[in-house]
Amino acid sequence: MASAVQNSKSKTKGKPAKDGPTPMMVQYLALKEKASDCLLFYRMGDFFELFFDDAKIASETLDIALTARGAQKGEPIPMCGVPVHAAEGYLAKLIKAGHRVAIAEQIETPEEAKARGGYKALVARDIVRFVTAGTLTEDSLLESRTSNMIAALCEVGGDIGISAADISTGHFEVMTVSANAILAELSRINASELIFAEGFGPLPSSAATGAIMRPKTDFESKAGAQILADHFADDTQFSVNSLSRAECSAAGGLIAYLDHVGRGNLPFLKAPVQRRRAEHMAIDGATRESLEIIAAQRGGRAGSLLHEVDRTVTGAGARMLAADLAAPLLDRVDIEDRLALVSWFHDDPILRNGVRDALRQLPDISRALGRIVAGRGSPRDLGQLRDGLDGGRNLRERLGAMEQRPDLLEALLPALDGHGEMVDHMMRALVPSPPTETQNGGYIAEAFDAALDSLRATARDGRQAIAAMEARYREATGVNALKIKHNAVLGYFVEVPAKHGDVLMAVDSGFTHRQTMAGAVRFNSPELHEEAMRITQAGGHAIAAEAAHLEELIDIARRRRDAISKSADTLARIDVAAALAERAAQGGWALPKFADAPVIDIIGGRHPVVEASLAKDGERFVSNDCGLNTDNRLWLVSGPNMGGKSTFLRQNALIILLAQAGSFVPATSARLGIVDRLFSRVGASDNLAQGQSTFMVEMVETAAILAQATDRSFVILDEVGRGTSTYDGLALAWAIVEGIHENNRCRCLFATHYHELSRLSESLDALSLHHVRAKEYKGDLVLLHELGNGPADRSYGIAVAKLAGISPQVLARAKNVLERLEKGRVETGGLAAGLGDLPLFSAALDAAEAKVDGLREKLGGLDIDALSPRDALDLLYDLKALAGEE
Ligand code: ATP
Repeated sequence: MASAVQNSKSKTKGKPAKDGPTPMMVQYLALKEKASDCLLFYRMGDFFELFFDDAKIASETLDIALTARGAQKGEPIPMCGVPVHAAEGYLAKLIKAGHRVAIAEQIETPEEAKARGGYKALVARDIVRFVTAGTLTEDSLLESRTSNMIAALCEVGGDIGISAADISTGHFEVMTVSANAILAELSRINASELIFAEGFGPLPSSAATGAIMRPKTDFESKAGAQILADHFADDTQFSVNSLSRAECSAAGGLIAYLDHVGRGNLPFLKAPVQRRRAEHMAIDGATRESLEIIAAQRGGRAGSLLHEVDRTVTGAGARMLAADLAAPLLDRVDIEDRLALVSWFHDDPILRNGVRDALRQLPDISRALGRIVAGRGSPRDLGQLRDGLDGGRNLRERLGAMEQRPDLLEALLPALDGHGEMVDHMMRALVPSPPTETQNGGYIAEAFDAALDSLRATARDGRQAIAAMEARYREATGVNALKIKHNAVLGYFVEVPAKHGDVLMAVDSGFTHRQTMAGAVRFNSPELHEEAMRITQAGGHAIAAEAAHLEELIDIARRRRDAISKSADTLARIDVAAALAERAAQGGWALPKFADAPVIDIIGGRHPVVEASLAKDGERFVSNDCGLNTDNRLWLVSGPNMGGKSTFLRQNALIILLAQAGSFVPATSARLGIVDRLFSRVGASDNLAQGQSTFMVEMVETAAILAQATDRSFVILDEVGRGTSTYDGLALAWAIVEGIHENNRCRCLFATHYHELSRLSESLDALSLHHVRAKEYKGDLVLLHELGNGPADRSYGIAVAKLAGISPQVLARAKNVLERLEKGRVETGGLAAGLGDLPLFSAALDAAEAKVDGLREKLGGLDIDALSPRDALDLLYDLKALAGEE
């Protein structure tokens, strides 16, 4: 530990030195300097105090009173404090608000201080820990279903090294990327704390906010390699030689920072996994945001794909699912392995429910292990390991007994073996629900250690002996109100009401006076003293014996950490598979199939999030097909506002992403050629927060697609070009479509309101025209959300404005203007309506009636013409469904 800050110069406490700060303030300021830009929690008795600007920030963030203490240079020193027992809650708030906190504890007792420097000596304090967003391990400060990553960046010879870790579970990864891939990787990692080497040039400004610069020397690649080699010397599977210099440098920098933050206590880190970009679908930050994969655009999980898919029952499972969705796979065999396991659970609901019920009971082994290895493990954490691994053992037996297990399960199950001895040992050693605190003991089970049992028995017998003594003393003294009590200062003592004090004061009574209170007098007796000594000693020894057992158990767990961690990952993988199976069963999702050719053949696709939100209002989602292949790889989708274009585009991207993450998909069927990169761009999306105009952002993002999309990529472009004047926008959209068709040759859905783009179908042979359908019904617009072939006949903008409640006067005027505009418009030709094939409602009714016996009876008395457009539409779909069923 770094040297403690003591009151070495002055030994007086409290009083100001002649014209300077008090010794306590001198100590505080020295610690504050060490804490640098962290808020300093300075321990004073039962409180952590903050001073100066720290106090102002904390009082505002935490909404606690700002007071003052003493003065410096004539000014009162701002101060606020939080009670130590409630500190975690306050820490959580400060960390959430983006602060980092240094905790300065008293590192000696007042007695030790006195022995060192006389009775006025100031207790030595030192920073024992830094609490930062990326280095939390406490359950109360972490979200159980979300990983908590910290990432480090550096540059070596033009390569960018990235290392990232979740120290609450020991996950550790490294990778080498080029400068233009930094943002995409950072958006996948989604770190809550980012550090970078001093002088690191390529850090994009959007990532730099809140990032912490660390000394260049921490990122020295040779030193990094040495640190890794030393730290993981026991891991036979790890070889530092397989890592690049940039990776060694980034990993070394991260470890150096973790060492600094933990004040020499390095947290749990597994040997780093080397990630290669070629293993995962490339998805950049803008696409992640636009598809709302892990978080919704308005923030938070609700409304995201993850939220809609997640049916995991353990925290570790939830974290793994989020990681899977953030990094879909590219290897068809790996994907199909995952899917086979999901399918296995899907086809056997009884097994699935049984496994999910069992998993639900399991504690979070990974995080308990993280705390244990970081040196912050409690008896409760050991109890969690014991229960989690025991649950794993039972699950292993159950799954192992099943016939025809999928390959992935077969490969995973052995990781649940081998803990039996440790689990049994912990079962014997620990009480069923061990506490977090250790100071009062009570966590080691009875009958585990005979010596401990006898110490406890001595303490217990002693307490009984004292109770008997009390009865005897009452009888001997005749004072019925006599009691033997205990407190922390006096230990055991005899107490009688003041009026009986004289009885025990008598010289030959055998009692010695200890204390006179307002209404009572307290005494000791040699016999009581002896018994009390026995109890205290036995109690103390018992607590020490328990502590020794705790240390031994922690040591056992630490030595088995890699195997425990593998078991935890296995349980999480089983949870994810069973959860995806549950989701698929709930939603009637289909098992996707894969093809070698770059096709997308989705029948009856749905957008899981929109479908769920419509279902809440009792509305149905209209499914749509999507068929792309080399000869028909670019669809131009037009149609009215609110018609469902964006939803259609996104649902296909999400279906591909889900499939490659190893999930069933919301469709009747899906056959997909593996997608290497996924892009989603929405025209004129608002990105003012990043200080760029919306159109600029749109073009920057589109430029990235044109530069990066391959013939294996899937791109959705939603009204790109609309962020500028009509002609510029149209011209750009035209050229972008051509570029994608001719150069990128990727599979692409392009939604647009520019009818003029339809003419591209004449020159681009792999482009086809589609539209979302709408019908005018009794003067109102009905959006059918159905995809049809061919271009839209018109844009229905005014009809949508009517739906939105624009006044009749404004609508009339708009129609008038439109007529004039259209009169002057150059006829583009080839825009014939393609909406003819959906029957009118009455015709649909006739057709259905002809097909379905008894339907007329059901619909008897129904006045079709009196129905509202929405009701009529619903009825139409009912009829279609009915006709289909029959
Ligand atoms: P705009 O051109 O104004 O951006 P859009 O054509 O992109 O509109 P969406 O945003 O996709 O339209 O959809 C608008 C709304 O229509 C959705 O919020 C949803 O409520 C509904 N909707 C979209 N698709 C469907 C569908 N397939 N089935 C049922 N309702 C749908």
